[in-house]
Amino acid sequence: MIEIERFGDEVTCVKTASPMGDRAIMWVYAYQLGDVVFDAGCGNAIDELRAYAKAHSVKRVYVTHDHEDHIGGCTAFVPEAEVFAGPVTLESVHKPYPLPEFFQFVWGNLTPVPQAKVLDISSIVVGDATFEVVDLSGHSREMFGFWDPEQRWLFSSDAVPLPSQKQMSMYDENIPKMIQRMQEIQDMNVAVLFDGHRGPIVDPHDHIETRIRFLADLGVQVRELAAEGKSIPEIKDILKFPEPWYLPNTEERFGIDHLIRSLIEDQV
Ligand SMILES: [Zn+2]
Repeated sequence: MIEIERFGDEVTCVKTASPMGDRAIMWVYAYQLGDVVFDAGCGNAIDELRAYAKAHSVKRVYVTHDHEDHIGGCTAFVPEAEVFAGPVTLESVHKPYPLPEFFQFVWGNLTPVPQAKVLDISSIVVGDATFEVVDLSGHSREMFGFWDPEQRWLFSSDAVPLPSQKQMSMYDENIPKMIQRMQEIQDMNVAVLFDGHRGPIVDPHDHIETRIRFLADLGVQVRELAAEGKSIPEIKDILKFPEPWYLPNTEERFGIDHLIRSLIEDQV
């Protein structure tokens, strides 16, 4: 399913999701600005994305990272548009990785886009605006955001977690690095954060600060427990974070233990 919303005069929010009844399981946002689209939406909305691409003149698609909800829609925009991705992400765009059944249901499968090209990681020009390409890795081993210092707009994808209290993570998320990236975003004094799952957030300072605070405090607590000799399963028991029903269906892609391990072991 797809929903289109406008943000001001310039930005079109292209929301895609898989339906559950008449509701979305979870929205993911792509954004169109001029003839450029940031991120491509999910594979389960491919027909709607194809119709969207046909009706709007999209010339370039820039994807931020290789998760299926951000690259699954790439194929809908070719051959009319060029698709660009960072070098790591490009590998998955060219040759998709297999997805557990649960994620095929939630977001849809990946289709290879062999003509996708590597992103110029210095800057990109969209109409009158020049966007700096910024390193937002942490949520994913490679993730780029797009920053317009004039308007102080940041297309941030998944750099800022959706929940105010992030209590689980993907197996390869680097949480100390994610905290560092959020602090760097705070220093940029962002006016509008174009978030990958929440949509545009005006004046995002407090929104981001809440998430930094929670994860930073959790890191202190978890590392103290580890220093006392507690194992990851023991720390998990102490924290008592509720396990969502679908966690086993993610086949270890998500876990509370991944978050704990990252806070103990990962370096920025
Ligand atoms: Zn992601």
